[in-house]
Amino acid sequence: MNVIVIGGGASGMAAAITAARAGAQVTIFEKEERLGRKILATGNGKCNMSNARWDGSEYNEAGRAFAETVLSKVSPGETLEFFEELGIFPREDAEGRIYPSSEQAASVLDALRFEVERLKIKVIYEEWIKGVVPQRSGDFAVVSHVNTRMRAEKVIVACGGDAGRQYGCEGDGFALAEMVGHTVKETVPALVGLTSNEKYFKQLKGVRAKGAVTLTAQAQNGEEEVLGTSRGEIQFGETGLSGICVFDLSGRANRAMKEEKRCTMTLDLFPDMEHAAFLEMMRRRLILSAHKSCEDFLNGLIHKKLIPVVLKQCGVEKLNDKAEKITEDQLEQISYMLKHWDVRINGSRPWNDAQTTSGGVELSEIDPNTMESKLHPGLYFTGEVVDVDGRCGGYNLQWAWSSGILAGRSAAAGAKTEE
Ligand SMILES: Cc1cc2nc3c(=O)[nH]c(=O)nc-3n(C[C@H](O)[C@H](O)[C@H](O)COP(=O)(O)OP(=O)(O)OC[C@H]3O[C@@H](n4cnc5c(N)ncnc54)[C@H](O)[C@@H]3O)c2cc1C
Repeated sequence: MNVIVIGGGASGMAAAITAARAGAQVTIFEKEERLGRKILATGNGKCNMSNARWDGSEYNEAGRAFAETVLSKVSPGETLEFFEELGIFPREDAEGRIYPSSEQAASVLDALRFEVERLKIKVIYEEWIKGVVPQRSGDFAVVSHVNTRMRAEKVIVACGGDAGRQYGCEGDGFALAEMVGHTVKETVPALVGLTSNEKYFKQLKGVRAKGAVTLTAQAQNGEEEVLGTSRGEIQFGETGLSGICVFDLSGRANRAMKEEKRCTMTLDLFPDMEHAAFLEMMRRRLILSAHKSCEDFLNGLIHKKLIPVVLKQCGVEKLNDKAEKITEDQLEQISYMLKHWDVRINGSRPWNDAQTTSGGVELSEIDPNTMESKLHPGLYFTGEVVDVDGRCGGYNLQWAWSSGILAGRSAAAGAKTEE
């Protein structure tokens, strides 16, 4: 049995190792000059490889049931055993995020690379696959950009998506899928910062605040829909918002904007307080701060850089005036803004900054029990190339490992007995 894996990233290496262990002869084609470059960048170089708290709801709505089936076949527990066999000792943090105990993504990549070498998996570097041609005989011809042509009984497409283009992922897997008749749901960047036209962002670079964010989309007919809420650290940058809670809603925002909907991110910087209680606290605070400047009135409540922005937005122009000059109406506006700060979103950071892809190969055309194409038996899709994307916290790598292992196992089924 010979298996070609297109793409030597997270899911491609997991698939190749699993298929080779099952007795298949495996070749990986990798576009870059080395395997798994993106893995090195994951989890800020520490590789958040999985998450102990998993119930399926971490994946996109369209992909949830599919991901659940795949993860029930190759569970996070089984994945960690796979890595423990390779020497990677997992460690869980307080939020259930799992990292290698070395806290180095390089050790995860090395463990995979060593196993690829040990199993004598052939790796062809710096050749990218431009075509997979199903043959009448039931196998496939795989053609590279320098016209290397190789036949394989089974082909696993593990090219990643569009995110992190600097790591070799330029949507090739989508083109390969479409070439053989698969449907590809339009892709948009996910787990990425969102941009805004608001001028005040220029002065907010580096500001971080704990809070909750709510994403609302307004259709052209005026209908509004809440697309999601998330809590965590909100990061303000020169061009807009980022931070994990913003990332988690970014795919939905980008998809809504593709549909020409107006997106607003509403920030609540005090999500644990009801609005009325917050306003009461602000009134008391103003009485105590009457002798201070308007600027000092908010000192200690929010980040210093946010103070002039909030005051100006609420009509308090002279920051050095005494706080006693703040009117009840202005106080109500300030309190409202700190709990309902509407930021109009006009786009997102580019694909290079995105951690994953929303969209991809249509799931109804793939068998979740095997990752095999329903259109072409013997052809498999894994990882980011299919329409499954997870939120931050290790869920995307978990998806890559599980779908890769499942595809490798299914592709090599029967290999040992045949050979
Ligand atoms: C900066 C960053 C940080 C991240 N951090 C985390 C994290 O901590 N936890 C988490 O769960 N997820 C994280 N992710 C997401 C995670 O890395 C991806 O979901 C995962 O790597 C996808 O695996 P994959 O195998 O589908 O694709 P990839 O790992 O992207 O691998 C695809 C491979 O295919 C190769 N390739 C592409 N086209 C071709 C072709 N035509 N021919 C041959 N080879 C080709 C590419 O060069 C690449 O090596 C992060 C992503 C980024 C960009």
